[in-house]
Amino acid sequence: MTDSRRLADLADNLACRSRMGLSKVAGSREDLAQLMDAVMPAAPTPRFTSLAQVRQWMGECTRCSLSRGRDKIVFGSGPEDARIMFIGEGPGAQEDRQGLPFVGPAGKLLDAMLAAVGLRREQVYIANIVKCRPPGNRDPQAEEVAACRPFLEAQVKVIAPAAICTLGRPAAHALLNSDAPMGRLRGQWSRALGVPVLPTYHPAYLLRTPEAKALAYADLKALVKGPTP
Ligand code: SF4
Repeated sequence: MTDSRRLADLADNLACRSRMGLSKVAGSREDLAQLMDAVMPAAPTPRFTSLAQVRQWMGECTRCSLSRGRDKIVFGSGPEDARIMFIGEGPGAQEDRQGLPFVGPAGKLLDAMLAAVGLRREQVYIANIVKCRPPGNRDPQAEEVAACRPFLEAQVKVIAPAAICTLGRPAAHALLNSDAPMGRLRGQWSRALGVPVLPTYHPAYLLRTPEAKALAYADLKALVKGPTP
């Protein structure tokens, strides 16, 4: 349902309940919170000096409908001064249960890919475009990406990485505002949020498509080397 339609329904609901002498509005607290988020002008993002402040600002966020199906918010993990930041699309089932990004088979492959180019997970920051699990591991929808974007932007501002590597098509598309195929985006330096960005394949895709691992390895080697001037 569109926001204007939901607003109209809410107005009808209020008028009807007022006529009946009732004071409370039907609908869940989350429905109303999301509706208010949708109709209130967006407040400017505060300035943060630490990731703990960003996490506190996020709270038990209900800005989008993904809050309804989540177990845990997956904020991100890694050092605040990481030089390289990886951004995936969103948490899967295991991440949702543990509240950590890239655990499970895809996470293990990511660790192996990092090791292949001389990196350890403890050296990089790993986050997702959306912090709550999309149902059935579907791609995040545009309004969910937009709702969660201020948190990602705040994370990037605090970490100020030298480079970002997006993992998979939805993350590359969301960050670069592009709809180009991954075959064209991967391995090509771009720029977003003031930071050089290099897209590569998602480890879950590489588990299904092992023949693409060599390309991902080449991308990570380029990532470690840094953007070409
Ligand atoms: Fe909030 Fe992001 Fe979770 Fe949506 S995905 S509820 S915006 S934290």
